[in-house]
Amino acid sequence: MKDYHPSPDLLKRFLSGRLDAAECRRIVRHLLTGCPSCQEVTRGLSPGPAEHPEIPRIVDWNRDDADL
Ligand SMILES: [Zn+2]
Repeated sequence: MKDYHPSPDLLKRFLSGRLDAAECRRIVRHLLTGCPSCQEVTRGLSPGPAEHPEIPRIVDWNRDDADL
């Protein structure tokens, strides 16, 4: 299955978290191979620049003992 590509529809559902674990894993694995066309598709599907939009800011700006 060297040439397996998830369909755009599948990728779309993957990005919205609607796939089961097995299917997710299959797609993640495929993306990790660095497939340019599928990365392009996921980039096009995800909103905004695809730079980890889910990572919360962990900087605590309210700390007043920060010695910079
Ligand atoms: Zn692919």
